[in-house]
Amino acid sequence: MTNEITGKTYDIQGFSVQDGPGVRTTVFLKGCPLRCPWCHSPESQRFNTELNWMSIRCLGIDACGYCVNACPKGCITRGETTINALGDSITFPAVDKTNCDECGLCAKACKATALYMCGTDMTIAEVMRRLTHDKPFYETSGGGVTVSGGECLSQPDFTIELLRQCKENGINTAVDTTGFVPWSAIERALPYTDMFLYDLKCMDSAMHKQVIGVPNELILENAQKIAEHGGKLWIRIPVMPMFNDSREHFDKYGEFLTTVKDAVINIQLLPYHKMGISKYDRLLTNEQVFVAEPPSDALMEERKAQLEARGFTVRIH
Ligand code: SF4
Ligand code: SF4
Repeated sequence: MTNEITGKTYDIQGFSVQDGPGVRTTVFLKGCPLRCPWCHSPESQRFNTELNWMSIRCLGIDACGYCVNACPKGCITRGETTINALGDSITFPAVDKTNCDECGLCAKACKATALYMCGTDMTIAEVMRRLTHDKPFYETSGGGVTVSGGECLSQPDFTIELLRQCKENGINTAVDTTGFVPWSAIERALPYTDMFLYDLKCMDSAMHKQVIGVPNELILENAQKIAEHGGKLWIRIPVMPMFNDSREHFDKYGEFLTTVKDAVINIQLLPYHKMGISKYDRLLTNEQVFVAEPPSDALMEERKAQLEARGFTVRIH
């Protein structure tokens, strides 16, 4: 029966070298309780399957326009006219999501897949077939499987059973988590998790809540409990200008991490970059996008040295 448990995924990426050691296959689950303004995967935030649109694939209303008639609720009309990469004028569809029930009829009508539904219900058996297919690459590279999101432990039954079956198949496992989940979910995952890729976004709880939408106490407590229970932490710190990049803030990181030092196998500093910005247009929600200048290489090296001075292994990127 466990093979029939379903999870809502939005991607499965092979040959990943960014999600833990070696070559990995990463399963991305939909839905997250946090709202980081710099999120590089905004399509991961909501828990439901939702309509997305990629302008680069769209043929335009005049050449195609099947989506307009496909929508039974009249959500799609003529939108703005712009000049495409070939220098031609093109009128895009405008999608008003106010009355949209995410029925997906417009995506079915869109042969160019410019409109598509993001979020697929997959069974454990379906995902495991994909993960075991890549097993030779894990074995030769020291890699494995990473379950990520969104927040994958917000779908605990699916994530934990997936981890259990990976271990049963001799596959190394990592859980990429915000830490903002009930301890019970982490505790259940622990026996099947070789390491937690654990995000520490900000050490000031009030600022964490103001910017990200939730406080950080639960995140810090869960990191300490993982350490107490013998789990391993691969700490990830997104370095954000004017938010957590100061020397004083990194002193706080250093102080906290020293309390869980035996569990920390690596600290990864991730400098803010602007590459995810274009994804926000795909959501069709007119959300405000956070834009800032990335931290300089010199600042990143300084913050790295600050944590190394406390005896940690630190890498940038
Ligand atoms: S998904 Fe939304 S926009 Fe598309 S056809 Fe259904 S109601 Fe209309
Ligand atoms: S059906 Fe697809 S390609 Fe055609 S206009 Fe609509 S979104 Fe663009």
